[in-house]
Amino acid sequence: MPPIRKILIANRGEVALRIVRSCKEMGIGSVAVYSEADRDSLHARIADEAICIGPAQSSLSYLNMPGVISAALVSGCDAVHPGYGFLAENAAFARACVDSGLVFIGPSADSIERMGDKSVARSTMMAAGVPCVPGSEGAVETYGEALSFAREVGFPVLIKAAAGGGGKGMRVARDESELEANMTAAKTEAAAAFGDDTVYIEKYLLRPRHVEFQVLADSLGNAVHLFERDCSVQRRHQKLIEEAPSPAVTPELRQTMGEAALKAVRAVGYESAGTVEFLLDTDGRFYFMEMNTRVQVEHPVTEQVTGVDIIREQIRIASGERMKHAEQSSVELRGHAIEFRINAEDPMHNFRPHPGRVECFNPPGGFGVRVDSHLYGGYTVPQHYDSLLAKLIVWGETRAEAVARARRALDEFIIVGIPTTIAFHQFVVEEEHFKKGEVYTDYVDEHVSESGLADFATGGQVVEEGRCV
Ligand code: ADP
Repeated sequence: MPPIRKILIANRGEVALRIVRSCKEMGIGSVAVYSEADRDSLHARIADEAICIGPAQSSLSYLNMPGVISAALVSGCDAVHPGYGFLAENAAFARACVDSGLVFIGPSADSIERMGDKSVARSTMMAAGVPCVPGSEGAVETYGEALSFAREVGFPVLIKAAAGGGGKGMRVARDESELEANMTAAKTEAAAAFGDDTVYIEKYLLRPRHVEFQVLADSLGNAVHLFERDCSVQRRHQKLIEEAPSPAVTPELRQTMGEAALKAVRAVGYESAGTVEFLLDTDGRFYFMEMNTRVQVEHPVTEQVTGVDIIREQIRIASGERMKHAEQSSVELRGHAIEFRINAEDPMHNFRPHPGRVECFNPPGGFGVRVDSHLYGGYTVPQHYDSLLAKLIVWGETRAEAVARARRALDEFIIVGIPTTIAFHQFVVEEEHFKKGEVYTDYVDEHVSESGLADFATGGQVVEEGRCV
Protein backbone atom coordinates (compact mmCIF):
# COMPACT_ATOMS: atom_id res chain seq x y z
CA MET A 1 0.00 0.00 0.00
CA PRO A 2 1.53 3.38 -0.96
CA PRO A 3 1.96 5.86 1.91
CA ILE A 4 -0.72 8.51 2.46
CA ARG A 5 0.53 11.92 1.29
CA LYS A 6 -2.52 14.16 1.38
CA ILE A 7 -5.72 13.89 3.39
CA LEU A 8 -9.09 15.51 2.86
CA ILE A 9 -10.78 16.24 6.18
CA ALA A 10 -14.51 15.73 5.77
CA ASN A 11 -15.51 17.67 8.84
CA ARG A 12 -15.47 21.04 10.57
CA GLY A 13 -14.85 22.60 13.98
CA GLU A 14 -12.43 21.36 16.58
CA VAL A 15 -12.12 17.84 15.19
CA ALA A 16 -11.15 19.10 11.74
CA LEU A 17 -8.46 21.18 13.38
CA ARG A 18 -7.34 18.22 15.48
CA ILE A 19 -6.85 16.12 12.33
CA VAL A 20 -5.00 18.92 10.48
CA ARG A 21 -2.61 19.14 13.44
CA SER A 22 -1.68 15.45 13.24
CA CYS A 23 -1.30 15.71 9.45
CA LYS A 24 1.13 18.61 9.83
CA GLU A 25 3.19 16.77 12.43
CA MET A 26 3.37 13.72 10.17
CA GLY A 27 4.37 15.74 7.10
CA ILE A 28 1.10 14.89 5.35
CA GLY A 29 -0.78 17.46 3.26
CA SER A 30 -4.22 18.54 4.49
CA VAL A 31 -7.27 19.78 2.61
CA ALA A 32 -10.19 21.25 4.55
CA VAL A 33 -13.73 21.48 3.25
CA TYR A 34 -16.08 24.15 4.53
CA SER A 35 -19.64 25.34 4.04
CA GLU A 36 -20.57 28.93 3.27
CA ALA A 37 -21.39 29.36 6.98
CA ASP A 38 -17.85 28.28 7.87
CA ARG A 39 -15.93 30.66 5.61
CA ASP A 40 -14.18 32.17 8.61
CA SER A 41 -13.51 28.88 10.34
CA LEU A 42 -10.10 28.16 11.72
CA HIS A 43 -9.99 24.66 10.24
CA ALA A 44 -10.25 26.16 6.76
CA ARG A 45 -7.50 28.67 7.53
CA ILE A 46 -5.04 26.28 9.12
CA ALA A 47 -5.24 23.42 6.60
CA ASP A 48 -2.85 23.59 3.64
CA GLU A 49 -5.78 24.03 1.25
CA ALA A 50 -9.49 24.67 1.69
CA ILE A 51 -12.44 24.05 -0.60
CA CYS A 52 -15.96 25.41 -0.20
CA ILE A 53 -18.39 22.53 -0.71
CA GLY A 54 -21.76 24.21 -0.46
CA PRO A 55 -24.27 26.14 1.59
CA ALA A 56 -24.67 26.11 5.36
CA GLN A 57 -27.18 23.28 5.48
CA SER A 58 -25.22 20.09 6.31
CA SER A 59 -27.18 17.97 3.84
CA LEU A 60 -25.88 20.20 1.05
CA SER A 61 -22.30 20.47 2.30
CA TYR A 62 -20.74 18.26 4.98
CA LEU A 63 -23.14 15.41 4.25
CA ASN A 64 -22.98 15.73 0.48
CA MET A 65 -20.98 12.64 -0.48
CA PRO A 66 -20.35 13.43 -4.16
CA GLY A 67 -19.29 16.96 -3.16
CA VAL A 68 -16.83 15.74 -0.53
CA ILE A 69 -15.38 13.03 -2.78
CA SER A 70 -15.01 15.41 -5.73
CA ALA A 71 -13.17 17.86 -3.46
CA ALA A 72 -10.76 15.07 -2.48
CA LEU A 73 -10.18 14.05 -6.07
CA VAL A 74 -9.68 17.53 -7.55
CA SER A 75 -7.24 18.46 -4.80
CA GLY A 76 -5.19 15.30 -5.35
CA CYS A 77 -5.84 13.69 -1.97
CA ASP A 78 -5.22 10.01 -1.53
CA ALA A 79 -7.26 9.60 1.66
CA VAL A 80 -10.27 10.98 3.54
CA HIS A 81 -10.58 11.40 7.31
CA PRO A 82 -14.24 11.71 8.36
CA GLY A 83 -13.71 12.82 12.01
CA TYR A 84 -16.84 12.18 14.10
CA GLY A 85 -20.48 12.92 13.25
CA PHE A 86 -21.47 13.82 9.65
CA LEU A 87 -20.28 10.98 7.37
CA ALA A 88 -18.07 9.22 9.92
CA GLU A 89 -20.34 6.22 10.44
CA ASN A 90 -21.87 6.10 7.00
CA ALA A 91 -20.98 2.80 5.35
CA ALA A 92 -22.05 4.06 1.91
CA PHE A 93 -19.57 6.91 2.24
CA ALA A 94 -16.72 4.60 3.28
CA ARG A 95 -17.55 2.43 0.27
CA ALA A 96 -17.78 5.42 -2.10
CA CYS A 97 -14.34 6.61 -0.99
CA VAL A 98 -12.79 3.23 -1.70
CA ASP A 99 -14.62 2.96 -5.05
CA SER A 100 -13.17 6.35 -5.98
CA GLY A 101 -9.65 5.17 -5.23
CA LEU A 102 -9.43 6.99 -1.88
CA VAL A 103 -8.33 5.46 1.41
CA PHE A 104 -11.07 5.85 4.02
CA ILE A 105 -9.36 6.51 7.36
CA GLY A 106 -11.54 4.31 9.50
CA PRO A 107 -12.87 0.78 9.53
CA SER A 108 -14.22 -1.07 6.51
CA ALA A 109 -17.73 -0.32 5.25
CA ASP A 110 -18.73 -3.82 6.36
CA SER A 111 -17.62 -3.19 9.96
CA ILE A 112 -19.46 0.15 10.01
CA GLU A 113 -22.59 -1.60 8.78
CA ARG A 114 -22.39 -4.44 11.26
CA MET A 115 -21.96 -2.12 14.22
CA GLY A 116 -24.16 0.70 12.90
CA ASP A 117 -27.39 -1.15 13.47
CA LYS A 118 -27.34 -1.41 17.25
CA SER A 119 -29.76 -4.33 17.37
CA VAL A 120 -27.62 -6.32 14.89
CA ALA A 121 -24.50 -5.39 16.88
CA ARG A 122 -26.19 -6.73 20.01
CA SER A 123 -26.89 -10.08 18.36
CA THR A 124 -23.30 -10.24 17.04
CA MET A 125 -21.93 -9.55 20.52
CA MET A 126 -24.23 -12.10 22.16
CA ALA A 127 -22.99 -14.70 19.69
CA ALA A 128 -19.37 -13.73 20.46
CA GLY A 129 -19.96 -14.19 24.19
CA VAL A 130 -19.79 -10.50 25.12
CA PRO A 131 -22.28 -9.74 27.92
CA CYS A 132 -25.17 -7.53 26.73
CA VAL A 133 -27.88 -5.69 28.67
CA PRO A 134 -30.81 -8.13 29.02
CA GLY A 135 -33.42 -7.41 26.37
CA SER A 136 -34.55 -8.34 22.90
CA GLU A 137 -32.16 -10.37 20.78
CA GLY A 138 -32.72 -8.16 17.74
CA ALA A 139 -35.28 -5.62 16.53
CA VAL A 140 -38.76 -5.52 18.04
CA GLU A 141 -41.56 -5.11 15.50
CA THR A 142 -44.86 -5.06 17.33
CA TYR A 143 -46.18 -3.82 20.64
CA GLY A 144 -47.01 -7.42 21.59
CA GLU A 145 -43.39 -8.47 21.09
CA ALA A 146 -42.17 -5.45 23.05
CA LEU A 147 -44.49 -6.32 25.91
CA SER A 148 -43.31 -9.90 26.12
CA PHE A 149 -39.62 -8.84 26.20
CA ALA A 150 -40.38 -6.15 28.76
CA ARG A 151 -42.19 -8.65 30.98
CA GLU A 152 -39.34 -11.11 30.60
CA VAL A 153 -36.59 -8.67 31.70
CA GLY A 154 -38.85 -6.66 34.04
CA PHE A 155 -39.68 -2.94 34.04
CA PRO A 156 -38.32 -0.31 33.68
CA VAL A 157 -37.19 -0.89 30.11
CA LEU A 158 -35.52 1.33 27.54
CA ILE A 159 -36.79 1.45 23.97
CA LYS A 160 -33.87 2.28 21.69
CA ALA A 161 -33.54 3.16 18.03
CA ALA A 162 -31.42 0.61 16.15
CA ALA A 163 -29.93 3.46 14.11
CA GLY A 164 -29.65 5.66 17.22
CA GLY A 165 -26.97 8.11 18.20
CA GLY A 166 -26.62 11.25 20.29
CA GLY A 167 -29.28 10.03 22.70
CA LYS A 168 -32.03 10.34 20.07
CA GLY A 169 -34.81 7.78 19.60
CA MET A 170 -34.56 6.56 23.18
CA ARG A 171 -37.47 6.34 25.65
CA VAL A 172 -37.84 4.78 29.09
CA ALA A 173 -41.03 2.89 29.94
CA ARG A 174 -41.35 2.63 33.71
CA ASP A 175 -44.29 0.24 33.60
CA GLU A 176 -46.72 -1.41 31.17
CA SER A 177 -48.93 1.65 30.95
CA GLU A 178 -46.07 3.66 29.39
CA LEU A 179 -44.84 1.06 26.94
CA GLU A 180 -47.07 1.58 23.93
CA ALA A 181 -46.97 5.39 23.85
CA ASN A 182 -43.22 5.53 24.49
CA MET A 183 -42.51 2.91 21.87
CA THR A 184 -44.43 5.02 19.36
CA ALA A 185 -42.57 8.14 20.48
CA ALA A 186 -39.17 6.42 20.09
CA LYS A 187 -40.14 5.17 16.63
CA THR A 188 -41.36 8.59 15.51
CA GLU A 189 -38.20 10.31 16.75
CA ALA A 190 -35.99 7.63 15.17
CA ALA A 191 -37.79 7.92 11.83
CA ALA A 192 -37.34 11.69 11.84
CA ALA A 193 -33.70 11.64 12.96
CA PHE A 194 -32.36 8.60 11.11
CA GLY A 195 -34.95 7.71 8.48
CA ASP A 196 -35.32 4.32 10.15
CA ASP A 197 -37.87 3.55 12.87
CA THR A 198 -36.47 0.15 13.91
CA VAL A 199 -36.31 -0.18 17.70
CA TYR A 200 -35.20 -2.77 20.24
CA ILE A 201 -35.64 -3.19 23.97
CA GLU A 202 -33.20 -3.29 26.85
CA LYS A 203 -33.65 -3.48 30.57
CA TYR A 204 -33.24 0.04 31.94
CA LEU A 205 -30.41 -0.21 34.46
CA LEU A 206 -30.60 1.96 37.54
CA ARG A 207 -27.67 4.21 38.40
CA PRO A 208 -25.23 2.64 35.93
CA ARG A 209 -21.96 4.15 34.85
CA HIS A 210 -21.08 4.59 31.20
CA VAL A 211 -17.64 3.00 30.80
CA GLU A 212 -16.18 2.67 27.33
CA PHE A 213 -12.97 1.13 26.02
CA GLN A 214 -10.82 2.72 23.34
CA VAL A 215 -9.58 0.09 20.93
CA LEU A 216 -7.09 0.11 18.08
CA ALA A 217 -6.63 -2.66 15.54
CA ASP A 218 -4.33 -2.71 12.51
CA SER A 219 -4.43 -4.58 9.22
CA LEU A 220 -1.65 -6.91 10.39
CA GLY A 221 -3.95 -8.56 12.91
CA ASN A 222 -2.82 -6.65 16.01
CA ALA A 223 -5.50 -5.37 18.40
CA VAL A 224 -5.08 -3.58 21.71
CA HIS A 225 -7.22 -1.48 24.00
CA LEU A 226 -6.09 1.84 25.47
CA PHE A 227 -8.04 1.36 28.69
CA GLU A 228 -11.35 2.91 29.59
CA ARG A 229 -13.10 6.27 29.82
CA ASP A 230 -15.86 6.97 32.29
CA CYS A 231 -18.50 9.13 30.61
CA SER A 232 -21.17 9.00 33.29
CA VAL A 233 -21.62 12.76 33.64
CA GLN A 234 -24.34 13.21 31.03
CA ARG A 235 -27.45 15.22 30.44
CA ARG A 236 -30.26 13.67 28.42
CA HIS A 237 -27.91 10.80 27.52
CA GLN A 238 -25.35 13.25 26.09
CA LYS A 239 -21.88 13.28 27.57
CA LEU A 240 -20.60 16.43 29.29
CA ILE A 241 -17.54 15.24 31.22
CA GLU A 242 -15.34 12.24 30.47
CA GLU A 243 -12.39 10.89 32.38
CA ALA A 244 -9.74 8.20 32.23
CA PRO A 245 -9.32 5.94 34.07
CA SER A 246 -12.78 5.30 35.57
CA PRO A 247 -12.85 5.79 39.34
CA ALA A 248 -15.00 2.62 39.51
CA VAL A 249 -12.77 0.24 37.55
CA THR A 250 -10.29 -1.90 39.46
CA PRO A 251 -7.24 -3.40 37.70
CA GLU A 252 -8.98 -6.81 37.61
CA LEU A 253 -12.19 -5.38 36.16
CA ARG A 254 -10.12 -3.38 33.66
CA GLN A 255 -8.54 -6.55 32.43
CA THR A 256 -11.86 -8.41 32.13
CA MET A 257 -13.65 -5.53 30.40
CA GLY A 258 -10.64 -4.90 28.14
CA GLU A 259 -10.69 -8.52 27.05
CA ALA A 260 -14.44 -8.29 26.33
CA ALA A 261 -13.80 -5.16 24.23
CA LEU A 262 -11.17 -7.00 22.22
CA LYS A 263 -13.55 -9.92 21.76
CA ALA A 264 -15.98 -7.43 20.20
CA VAL A 265 -13.23 -6.13 17.90
CA ARG A 266 -12.28 -9.62 16.76
CA ALA A 267 -15.90 -10.67 16.25
CA VAL A 268 -16.23 -8.21 13.39
CA GLY A 269 -12.63 -8.25 12.14
CA TYR A 270 -12.40 -4.57 13.08
CA GLU A 271 -9.58 -2.32 11.86
CA SER A 272 -8.77 1.28 12.94
CA ALA A 273 -9.73 3.14 16.12
CA GLY A 274 -13.07 2.38 17.73
CA THR A 275 -14.88 2.47 21.03
CA VAL A 276 -16.72 -0.34 22.74
CA GLU A 277 -19.31 1.12 25.11
CA PHE A 278 -20.48 -0.68 28.22
CA LEU A 279 -22.79 0.05 31.11
CA LEU A 280 -21.37 -0.88 34.50
CA ASP A 281 -23.93 -1.58 37.20
CA THR A 282 -23.60 -0.93 40.92
CA ASP A 283 -22.59 -4.57 41.50
CA GLY A 284 -19.64 -4.35 39.12
CA ARG A 285 -21.36 -6.24 36.29
CA PHE A 286 -20.86 -4.83 32.83
CA TYR A 287 -22.89 -5.05 29.64
CA PHE A 288 -22.11 -4.19 26.01
CA MET A 289 -24.15 -1.23 24.78
CA GLU A 290 -22.78 -0.35 21.35
CA MET A 291 -19.59 0.12 19.37
CA ASN A 292 -18.70 3.44 17.80
CA THR A 293 -16.72 2.93 14.62
CA ARG A 294 -14.92 6.28 14.62
CA VAL A 295 -12.78 8.55 16.72
CA GLN A 296 -14.81 10.02 19.61
CA VAL A 297 -15.12 13.54 20.94
CA GLU A 298 -13.56 12.35 24.19
CA HIS A 299 -10.51 10.63 22.66
CA PRO A 300 -8.04 13.20 24.15
CA VAL A 301 -8.42 11.89 27.71
CA THR A 302 -7.10 8.55 26.50
CA GLU A 303 -4.28 10.31 24.64
CA GLN A 304 -3.27 12.12 27.81
CA VAL A 305 -3.06 8.97 29.96
CA THR A 306 -1.41 6.72 27.36
CA GLY A 307 0.72 9.11 25.28
CA VAL A 308 -0.81 7.69 22.09
CA ASP A 309 -1.90 10.14 19.36
CA ILE A 310 -5.07 8.33 18.26
CA ILE A 311 -5.49 10.28 15.00
CA ARG A 312 -1.90 9.49 14.04
CA GLU A 313 -2.54 5.82 14.76
CA GLN A 314 -5.68 5.90 12.58
CA ILE A 315 -3.62 7.32 9.72
CA ARG A 316 -0.83 4.78 10.20
CA ILE A 317 -3.30 1.91 10.32
CA ALA A 318 -5.05 3.16 7.17
CA SER A 319 -1.63 3.21 5.45
CA GLY A 320 -1.22 -0.47 6.26
CA GLU A 321 1.47 0.21 8.85
CA ARG A 322 1.89 -1.56 12.15
CA MET A 323 0.48 0.48 15.00
CA LYS A 324 2.71 1.95 17.68
CA HIS A 325 1.65 -0.45 20.43
CA ALA A 326 1.01 -3.80 18.82
CA GLU A 327 1.23 -5.61 22.18
CA GLN A 328 -1.21 -4.98 25.02
CA SER A 329 1.63 -5.16 27.55
CA SER A 330 3.35 -2.14 26.00
CA VAL A 331 0.39 0.20 26.59
CA GLU A 332 0.79 2.03 29.87
CA LEU A 333 -1.70 3.99 31.91
CA ARG A 334 -0.24 7.09 33.49
CA GLY A 335 -2.09 9.52 35.75
CA HIS A 336 -5.62 10.77 35.34
CA ALA A 337 -7.25 12.96 32.67
CA ILE A 338 -10.63 14.69 32.60
CA GLU A 339 -12.34 16.38 29.66
CA PHE A 340 -14.96 19.11 29.99
CA ARG A 341 -17.13 19.87 26.98
CA ILE A 342 -17.55 23.62 26.65
CA ASN A 343 -20.75 24.04 24.64
CA ALA A 344 -22.55 27.12 23.34
CA GLU A 345 -25.47 26.34 25.65
CA ASP A 346 -26.99 28.23 28.52
CA PRO A 347 -26.94 26.00 31.61
CA MET A 348 -29.09 28.57 33.41
CA HIS A 349 -31.86 28.05 30.89
CA ASN A 350 -32.14 24.32 30.46
CA PHE A 351 -28.95 24.16 28.35
CA ARG A 352 -30.60 26.03 25.49
CA PRO A 353 -28.26 26.22 22.46
CA HIS A 354 -26.94 29.73 22.04
CA PRO A 355 -25.01 30.47 18.86
CA GLY A 356 -23.66 33.98 18.37
CA ARG A 357 -20.56 36.13 18.25
CA VAL A 358 -17.65 35.38 20.57
CA GLU A 359 -16.28 38.75 21.63
CA CYS A 360 -13.34 37.39 23.52
CA PHE A 361 -11.74 33.96 23.80
CA ASN A 362 -9.04 33.42 26.34
CA PRO A 363 -8.34 29.73 27.01
CA PRO A 364 -6.36 28.52 30.02
CA GLY A 365 -2.88 27.06 29.78
CA GLY A 366 -0.09 25.84 31.99
CA PHE A 367 1.09 22.43 33.11
CA GLY A 368 -1.30 19.58 32.42
CA VAL A 369 -3.83 21.67 30.48
CA ARG A 370 -4.90 21.05 26.88
CA VAL A 371 -7.59 22.95 25.00
CA ASP A 372 -8.88 21.64 21.67
CA SER A 373 -10.96 24.36 20.07
CA HIS A 374 -11.67 26.14 16.80
CA LEU A 375 -12.68 29.36 18.53
CA TYR A 376 -11.06 32.80 18.35
CA GLY A 377 -12.16 36.27 19.45
CA GLY A 378 -14.53 37.73 16.87
CA TYR A 379 -15.69 34.33 15.60
CA THR A 380 -19.41 33.87 15.12
CA VAL A 381 -20.69 30.43 16.15
CA PRO A 382 -23.07 29.41 13.35
CA GLN A 383 -26.50 28.12 14.27
CA HIS A 384 -26.39 25.24 11.82
CA TYR A 385 -24.13 22.77 13.60
CA ASP A 386 -23.53 21.20 17.01
CA SER A 387 -22.81 23.41 19.97
CA LEU A 388 -19.34 22.16 20.93
CA LEU A 389 -16.98 25.15 21.26
CA ALA A 390 -13.99 23.73 23.04
CA LYS A 391 -12.75 20.77 25.00
CA LEU A 392 -10.75 21.44 28.12
CA ILE A 393 -8.62 18.44 29.02
CA VAL A 394 -6.65 18.40 32.24
CA TRP A 395 -4.10 15.85 33.34
CA GLY A 396 -2.86 15.10 36.84
CA GLU A 397 -0.81 12.42 38.49
CA THR A 398 -3.88 11.52 40.55
CA ARG A 399 -7.60 12.20 40.12
CA ALA A 400 -7.54 14.72 42.96
CA GLU A 401 -4.72 16.62 41.24
CA ALA A 402 -6.63 16.59 37.95
CA VAL A 403 -9.77 17.94 39.66
CA ALA A 404 -7.80 20.73 41.36
CA ARG A 405 -6.18 21.61 38.02
CA ALA A 406 -9.60 21.61 36.36
CA ARG A 407 -10.91 24.07 38.93
CA ARG A 408 -8.00 26.42 38.28
CA ALA A 409 -8.24 26.07 34.48
CA LEU A 410 -12.02 26.62 34.41
CA ASP A 411 -11.60 29.79 36.47
CA GLU A 412 -9.08 31.05 33.90
CA PHE A 413 -11.25 30.16 30.91
CA ILE A 414 -12.82 33.27 29.43
CA ILE A 415 -15.41 33.22 26.68
CA VAL A 416 -17.31 36.47 26.36
CA GLY A 417 -20.33 37.07 24.14
CA ILE A 418 -22.34 33.89 24.48
CA PRO A 419 -23.31 31.70 27.44
CA THR A 420 -21.37 28.45 27.74
CA THR A 421 -21.27 25.37 29.94
CA ILE A 422 -18.20 26.65 31.84
CA ALA A 423 -20.38 27.60 34.83
CA PHE A 424 -21.84 24.09 34.88
CA HIS A 425 -18.36 22.58 35.03
CA GLN A 426 -17.26 25.03 37.74
CA PHE A 427 -20.16 23.82 39.82
CA VAL A 428 -19.43 20.14 39.21
CA VAL A 429 -15.73 20.28 40.15
CA GLU A 430 -16.76 21.67 43.56
CA GLU A 431 -19.52 19.14 44.07
CA GLU A 432 -18.84 16.47 46.74
CA HIS A 433 -20.02 13.38 44.82
CA PHE A 434 -18.04 14.31 41.73
CA LYS A 435 -14.97 15.04 43.84
CA LYS A 436 -15.23 11.51 45.25
CA GLY A 437 -15.72 10.02 41.78
CA GLU A 438 -19.26 8.93 42.66
CA VAL A 439 -20.94 9.56 39.34
CA TYR A 440 -23.52 7.63 37.37
CA THR A 441 -25.69 8.49 34.41
CA ASP A 442 -28.38 10.30 36.48
CA TYR A 443 -25.78 12.32 38.35
CA VAL A 444 -26.59 15.65 36.66
CA ASP A 445 -30.34 15.31 37.23
CA GLU A 446 -29.81 14.48 40.87
CA HIS A 447 -27.03 16.83 41.89
CA VAL A 448 -27.00 19.84 39.58
CA SER A 449 -29.70 22.49 39.73
CA GLU A 450 -30.01 25.91 38.15
CA SER A 451 -30.03 27.53 41.57
CA GLY A 452 -26.74 25.77 42.36
CA LEU A 453 -25.25 27.05 39.13
CA ALA A 454 -26.26 30.66 39.75
CA ASP A 455 -23.16 31.34 41.84
CA PHE A 456 -20.93 30.39 38.94
CA ALA A 457 -22.84 31.97 36.10
CA THR A 458 -20.50 34.90 35.70
CA GLY A 459 -17.41 33.05 36.97
CA GLY A 460 -14.62 35.59 36.46
CA GLN A 461 -15.90 36.70 33.06
CA VAL A 462 -16.10 40.43 33.05
CA VAL A 463 -15.94 42.71 30.05
CA GLU A 464 -14.96 46.33 30.17
CA GLU A 465 -15.20 48.36 27.01
CA GLY A 466 -15.05 45.21 24.94
CA ARG A 467 -11.90 43.94 26.68
CA CYS A 468 -11.72 40.93 28.95
CA VAL A 469 -10.45 41.62 32.43
P1 ADP B 1 -26.45 6.91 21.73
O1 ADP B 1 -25.83 6.06 20.65
O2 ADP B 1 -27.70 7.61 21.31
O3 ADP B 1 -25.46 7.78 22.42
P2 ADP B 1 -26.19 4.82 23.73
O4 ADP B 1 -26.70 3.46 23.46
O5 ADP B 1 -24.72 5.04 23.62
O6 ADP B 1 -26.97 5.86 22.81
O7 ADP B 1 -26.66 5.30 25.16
C1 ADP B 1 -26.47 6.61 25.61
C2 ADP B 1 -26.71 6.69 27.10
O8 ADP B 1 -28.03 6.25 27.43
C3 ADP B 1 -25.82 5.83 27.95
O9 ADP B 1 -24.57 6.42 28.18
C4 ADP B 1 -26.65 5.70 29.20
O10 ADP B 1 -26.59 6.87 29.98
C5 ADP B 1 -28.04 5.58 28.68
N1 ADP B 1 -28.43 4.17 28.50
C6 ADP B 1 -28.35 3.45 27.35
N2 ADP B 1 -28.80 2.19 27.54
C7 ADP B 1 -29.20 2.10 28.83
C8 ADP B 1 -29.77 1.06 29.65
N3 ADP B 1 -30.05 -0.13 29.15
N4 ADP B 1 -30.03 1.35 30.96
C9 ADP B 1 -29.77 2.57 31.48
N5 ADP B 1 -29.25 3.59 30.77
C10 ADP B 1 -28.96 3.36 29.46
